[in-house]
Amino acid sequence: MRFLVTNDDGFMAVGIRTLAQAAAPLGEVRVVAPDREQSATSHSLTLHYPLRVRQAEQYVQVVDGTPTDCVVLGLGELLAEKPDFVLSGVNHGANLGDDVLYSGTVAAAMEATILGIPGVALSYTGRDPENLPAWTELLSRLLEQVLKRGDYPRDTLLNVNLPASPPADVKGIRVTTLGRRAYSGSLTRAYDPNGREYFWIGGGQSRWWGAPDSDFQAIHDGFISVTPLHLDLTSYPLLEDLGRWNLTL
Ligand code: MN
Repeated sequence: MRFLVTNDDGFMAVGIRTLAQAAAPLGEVRVVAPDREQSATSHSLTLHYPLRVRQAEQYVQVVDGTPTDCVVLGLGELLAEKPDFVLSGVNHGANLGDDVLYSGTVAAAMEATILGIPGVALSYTGRDPENLPAWTELLSRLLEQVLKRGDYPRDTLLNVNLPASPPADVKGIRVTTLGRRAYSGSLTRAYDPNGREYFWIGGGQSRWWGAPDSDFQAIHDGFISVTPLHLDLTSYPLLEDLGRWNLTL
């Protein structure tokens, strides 16, 4: 089995090192990853300047672009042979609920799925990514179960989140739905040393809610969360309702 491994925290991140290590016993690993932090770049594609690639280590290629750029380049040009799976992560931080709409980690797995290669996104909800190497063996076993299936669903990616607890204390694995997350106080308005106003998005408080089978609940209860995400965002229950709006010219 062949793997393309990427992330949004940059190729130096502990998380991608852990993921590459976890995948290594299962097949041939090639890393194509951003040269720097690209978190929250979502599904963005670099169109307005050229992308440069450099060989950072054997089997590790580094791109001065986004996670989606890495998947496009990896699958389109950089890898001698098409991988069977694209693995993205392990992200330093949770990608639960609404996070998936901002996440570069999830977007990389999504881009692979669009291009016809199954993708799995993995994220660690704990605070300290230095804890991640301890997860290597457990991740290997988890990946093996997912990857050895011949019936991996089309147009679907898996979004995996690991709880903050040490791997020995994990309660189990739950298949989950996306919960919701809202932030407050995460917009700062301030003044730079020259007296010019600026704004900074980030920090603040977040709160979550979701069904009992949500990803947030699983993580809260100490389980690994696995959410299937589909590329089709159409709201099917609303099609009929919207039809009754009788939109007309
Ligand atoms: Mn990240």
